Amino acid sequence: MSKATDKRIEKDSNESEFVLRLKAIVETAIDGIITIDENGIVGTMNPAAAQMFGYSEDEVIGQNIKMLMPPPYRGEHDGYMHRYKETGHAKIIGIGREVSGRKKNGNVFPLRLAVSESWIGDTRIFTGIIHDLTEVKAAEEEIFRLNQELEQKVAERTEKLAEVVNQLLKTNQQLQSEIQERKAAEQALLQAQDELKKSLEKERDLNELKSRFVSMASHEFRTPLSTILSSVALISRYQEKDQQPQRDKHIERIKSSVQNLTGILNDFLSLSKLEEGKVLCQPETFVMQDFCGEVLDEVKSLLKNGQQLSHHSPAEAMEVFLDKRHLKNILFNLLSNAIKYSEEDKIIECTLESSGDAVLIRVKDEGIGIPKEDQPYLFTRFFRAHNAINIQGTGLGLNIVKRYVEMMQGKISYQSSLGKGSIFLVQLPSRME
Ligand code: ADP
Repeated sequence: MSKATDKRIEKDSNESEFVLRLKAIVETAIDGIITIDENGIVGTMNPAAAQMFGYSEDEVIGQNIKMLMPPPYRGEHDGYMHRYKETGHAKIIGIGREVSGRKKNGNVFPLRLAVSESWIGDTRIFTGIIHDLTEVKAAEEEIFRLNQELEQKVAERTEKLAEVVNQLLKTNQQLQSEIQERKAAEQALLQAQDELKKSLEKERDLNELKSRFVSMASHEFRTPLSTILSSVALISRYQEKDQQPQRDKHIERIKSSVQNLTGILNDFLSLSKLEEGKVLCQPETFVMQDFCGEVLDEVKSLLKNGQQLSHHSPAEAMEVFLDKRHLKNILFNLLSNAIKYSEEDKIIECTLESSGDAVLIRVKDEGIGIPKEDQPYLFTRFFRAHNAINIQGTGLGLNIVKRYVEMMQGKISYQSSLGKGSIFLVQLPSRME
């Protein structure tokens, strides 16, 4: 064969055009082409093959093809050729596959080998077309390496991203719990502020209540105290035995003045306790008619000349479950007002009724009545109607009455016309809860 570099095939008159063409193809092929006989001895080797393996053609031709193979193929080749001859069972022949080649300098390189079998007369030859895969493999490896690098980077980035996400989640959680804590703190602060405000308001209310009481008491205490003083002075003058009626009259005056003072003090104490939230309901079972009788007996001592106290109630005992002390305060206040705001000789009526699960208490008088314009303020503490200025009073009673009624889940209402009289109606459940 000619040199590979010289790509020109000399025309030999002995060789046919076809052979020359074949030669030209083989000599100039980019892939290596090697032929061997059935014993594995190299018959021909084209320049591309020689260059691939780093041998000269002469060094290979006539040698066993094994020399171009690295172990383990090298050791197996003879046996393989032998087996193929015996059995016709091919592993490469007619198939082609990727194998390794060994260069003269010992370097092993990847190659694709396609082997075909042919006969020239009786002689069998095998042609191997060898394509150097070094660059392809290197490129593949590079791709693989780059791919791995990329995967590594992706993995690293993913890990970093996961760390950042985790950190974010953690920060978010921390923020959430901080927000939660702040909200709770704000809530607690608001609550504390609210409580403080309420207790300040309560304090202010109580202070106002006390100062109003002081000014009211200094006014209201004056009359009973001067009555007591003058009666005491007069009693000391009535020293004769037959002056007992005069003495008794003044003793009665003193008694009623003291009662008046006690009433004012009691009202104030009740109101203070109510304001401080210290008043509780302690219901008990009792019969309304009996209870009413007792209060009426007590209130009789307040009746003015000619005043009559009439009482109506159902014959059937009205058993109730209510706070007796509060109810006594209610009834006593309403009856004493009816007496106080009525002139002599008038009738005061106290009626009991029962209606389903409720009891009704009605106190009616024929007294001075309440001016229309004053009625909306009737239950406001310290409020006194214009027509009551000259009658002793504190303006606390009805406020206390209303609070007690409401504590027992009841209602209070009234009707009044100026100069004609008033009716106060208290409705209570017969059994408070
Ligand atoms: P007080 O009688 O000590 O002034 P109350 O709170 O009991 O206080 O009553 C408030 C005001 O309502 C009274 O000052 C009076 O003007 C009016 N009032 C209450 N009851 C009657 C009544 N039966 N008749 C007329 N006015 C009344």
